[in-house]
Amino acid sequence: MNGTVYLVGAGPGAADLLTLRALRLLEQAGVLFHDALVSREILSLAPNAIKVEVGKRSGRLSTAQNFINKRLVDAARVHDVVVRLKGGDPLIFGRGGEEIETLAEHGIAFEIVPGVTAAAGAAAYAGIPLTHRNHAHSCVFVTGHLKEGEPELDWEALATPRQTIAIYMGVKGLPLICERLAAHGLPKDLPAAIVQRATLDQQRVLVGTLATLPESAAREGFRPPALVIVGEVVRLREKLAWFAPGAIKKETERPGVSA
Ligand code: SAH
Repeated sequence: MNGTVYLVGAGPGAADLLTLRALRLLEQAGVLFHDALVSREILSLAPNAIKVEVGKRSGRLSTAQNFINKRLVDAARVHDVVVRLKGGDPLIFGRGGEEIETLAEHGIAFEIVPGVTAAAGAAAYAGIPLTHRNHAHSCVFVTGHLKEGEPELDWEALATPRQTIAIYMGVKGLPLICERLAAHGLPKDLPAAIVQRATLDQQRVLVGTLATLPESAAREGFRPPALVIVGEVVRLREKLAWFAPGAIKKETERPGVSA
């Protein structure tokens, strides 16, 4: 009898943003395949699991992906509970879809556990509502990943007023992305923000405009993992910023909770 593979979202970083379901599965896992981005704190919640890092290095993506798919199938033949833990939500820019397609082809049972995606985590912890009655009626999630030096994006569709753009994997392509968005009609002074290591103690946020953000982010040394948010909603951070990294209170220090 084969086991079940659980494709689990680990959330954007902070361990307490895991779902209860993710936590229960981590506790039961016989083997855990995880990305490089998943923190040690989260991995420590699976004390009994054999842990295998299957982080991909760019350049060998497809080979590595086939290899991961195959390992999941093999693991389900040995273990009852196989957890494939992916950053954020497993079905958003995570190639989770491809992994479960392979499982389905091999007749391996699987379940999917959603997670807090990086855009939701970064927006919340930077104090930037992704939608807002007065500023944005839609929000699109795009990847800024470059293919042959160019992001493969529908610029016309992105350059829409009253829309927030959340850009994953956009650090390297940031200058190009901002330039193209402006060339397709978005104002150069449209606010834009970059959030590095969102929800974690090391979170850093930088706010600028389409014209200024690429240069200032490079100057300040912003690096992946970082999420870029473009749109009028970014202005709200001035009023709504609440997260002070480094000042996270322990459970027992919160008012009303005794030690
Ligand atoms: N499945 C994931 C996304 C994987 S793509 C999800 O739903 O979030 C990886 C990209 O996600 C990174 O390049 C970065 O753009 C974003 N990302 C992941 N964790 C992040 C974090 N803690 N802070 C900011 N961006 C993050």
